[in-house]
Amino acid sequence: AFPPDVVSQAPEDPLFGLMAAYKKDTDSKKVDLGIGAYRDNNAKPWVLPVVKQADDRLRSDPDLNHEYLPIGGLAEFTAASQKLILGKNSPALSDKRVVSLQTVSGTGAVHLGSLFLSKFYNPSNADAKAIYVSSPTWANHNQIITNVHLPMKSYPYFSKETKGLDFDGMYGAIEQAPSGSVILLHACAHNPTGVDPTQDQWKKIAKVMREKKHFPFFDCAYQGFASGSLATDAWAINHFVEQGFELMIAQSYAKNFGLYGERAGCFHFVAAPSSSAQDEVARVGSQLAILQRSEISNPPAYGARIASLILNDEKLFAQWEEDLRTMSGRIKDMRKALKENLDKLQTPGNWDHITAQIGMFSFTGLNEQQVQKLREQSHVYMTKNGRISMAGLNTGNVEYFAKAVDGVVR
Ligand code: PMP
Repeated sequence: AFPPDVVSQAPEDPLFGLMAAYKKDTDSKKVDLGIGAYRDNNAKPWVLPVVKQADDRLRSDPDLNHEYLPIGGLAEFTAASQKLILGKNSPALSDKRVVSLQTVSGTGAVHLGSLFLSKFYNPSNADAKAIYVSSPTWANHNQIITNVHLPMKSYPYFSKETKGLDFDGMYGAIEQAPSGSVILLHACAHNPTGVDPTQDQWKKIAKVMREKKHFPFFDCAYQGFASGSLATDAWAINHFVEQGFELMIAQSYAKNFGLYGERAGCFHFVAAPSSSAQDEVARVGSQLAILQRSEISNPPAYGARIASLILNDEKLFAQWEEDLRTMSGRIKDMRKALKENLDKLQTPGNWDHITAQIGMFSFTGLNEQQVQKLREQSHVYMTKNGRISMAGLNTGNVEYFAKAVDGVVR
């Protein structure tokens, strides 16, 4: 029933393939800069101390059971997630114009939002059905969006010359997109480039999107992990909410809680301020619940319980903020150390972007051949677009990595 001309052999997922190749490599000097997961200074996964505390508390609870969650997820988790991303005093919350569903981490939230758009987003301008994503963007955006049959277009984002934001290109494409287009925006710590707009640039983007009546869809996978401040990393989203946009948010807790495999995330729909906003939110929420029911029935409980305990407890929350500063601080230190090592080696080229970029990733500017050479000669594993996961660097390997880079660019 499924001959090769109907079901061809699909290529391996490049990132998970990279992970497998790294595992197989027996060289003791090998360096994993592939997958975006935090590592401590010993290159080991890090269970956040606050997560360990919450986990211990949960496990010792004699009333803990394995019942289903409601379709929309754990109510205290989704309510706390709204406050975290929008701010406790958000007018959207006091106006009750937000509806939120717990999802299968950030991926599930991007999917649920895309599925909703594919079914219901029908602006008067049919040309504007497409979602615009940054070029480049997180590779999974492409698959998630095409899987729900939404047309996808892109806006320029990264400047190869400056290794920073191509603001004019981005702004121009958004300005020229048909009125009412969906624009997918990375809320902070853009993946894969590590390049974010400044607050001033965000204001300009919001202004032109308002004029064009575009619809923002924020993907927020690194709140608190990027700058170390939860509020700073949610600034762009909150600016758009303040400007009165109707918008959607995909929120992941994989990185900021280190809950990668627990799949804790949230999807939010925020209606624009109007007298019918509460009615709209109720209608949208009812349809989202049907989509959720048919896809996953109800979301996984354990990770959301851990996150919920921390988000709803003042002491644990403060400890979490400390843990976030530990992670973001170590990554910033590694950016500095890498830059210093390259400067010391007088490696050809300008490496200022290493410290200017933010969050989990850096787009190094290394090309595919250089990436290949790094792997063959030095057992360094990174994606072929030249992206490195900064968390894979530590005081034990940063000099080795800098020397390896120096070797391939000379
Ligand atoms: N969006 C972006 C931009 C990401 O980088 C990630 C994590 N790689 C996600 C969404 C979602 O990841 P997860 O499903 O693990 O929360």
